[in-house]
Amino acid sequence: MIAAAAVLSVLAALAVVKTFEQRIPPVAVRIGLLVFVLGPLAGMVYAMWALWQWALHPIDLLLLVVFAVVTGLGTSFGYHRLLTHRSFQTTPWITGMALAAGAMAVPSRPIDWAARHLEHHAHADREGDPHSPLDGLLHAHVGWMFGVSAAKRERYCRRLMRDPVVMFIERTALVWLALGLAVPALIDGWRGLLWGGIVRMAIHNHAMFGVNSICHAFGSQPFATGDESRNNRLIAVLAFGEGWHNNHHAFPAMAYHGMGSRPDATGLVIRWLERAGLAWDVHRPDPAAVARRRTRAITGSTRHQPRRSRS
Ligand SMILES: [Zn+2]
Ligand SMILES: [Zn+2]
Repeated sequence: MIAAAAVLSVLAALAVVKTFEQRIPPVAVRIGLLVFVLGPLAGMVYAMWALWQWALHPIDLLLLVVFAVVTGLGTSFGYHRLLTHRSFQTTPWITGMALAAGAMAVPSRPIDWAARHLEHHAHADREGDPHSPLDGLLHAHVGWMFGVSAAKRERYCRRLMRDPVVMFIERTALVWLALGLAVPALIDGWRGLLWGGIVRMAIHNHAMFGVNSICHAFGSQPFATGDESRNNRLIAVLAFGEGWHNNHHAFPAMAYHGMGSRPDATGLVIRWLERAGLAWDVHRPDPAAVARRRTRAITGSTRHQPRRSRS
């Protein structure tokens, strides 16, 4: 119990750092980020060692799966496709729950997340892209977070700042992040926190980080997007369909990144909601535009030379 309280305190302190980062010295923000990146990895190593000591209890496996699904969809369905790209519309309650699940997943407020992601789309693999692997794979995976400036909220997300549901989650983001750790801890103590909170966070982090790094370096390019975005099946499975990243860069507002033929867990949820009448204005690209932009698939690692150099 003492260990659980200690880990919870560290992660809560990190959440405070992230939530109030603009008023906290940059060095403190970087230390907090380091805890966010390394803490779950250390927890994962401990969990692997612990597996040799005692069998994984069914409740812990259940907590891992449930919280991985909730937070994975929070990022993909909530933060990415619903909030950032407006790929579909849904009810305020579903919007609120999806964004709360997104806030549970990462120590980033929804508008900051959306602004940084839209900045990526606006400058993909060119000057101004916050996380292009043309600056190094590790930079695109985690390094970029340590050098990034404040999110350009006014420039990219002014519309979101007038939305009461979004602003509610914005103000309570810390609470949801803490709940994502506290609830599994309350259900099964230290082991619940380890599997449902920390291990889940490590898997989620690296699956989603992989969209920025691996999906701009390894995989196929069925569409000519003018950037390095790639479709990567492994990341698609681990990140709830987000790995069909070349498809997404070709048609950013498209709701179904798998385009109907590839595994896309988030797309499946949107389809169920659409059939139930709970999602509407679901964006589908014009078939003629899809055919026009389709190009010969290239499989393998990035062979292109960087189109820019770091000055
Ligand atoms: Zn991208
Ligand atoms: Zn996107």
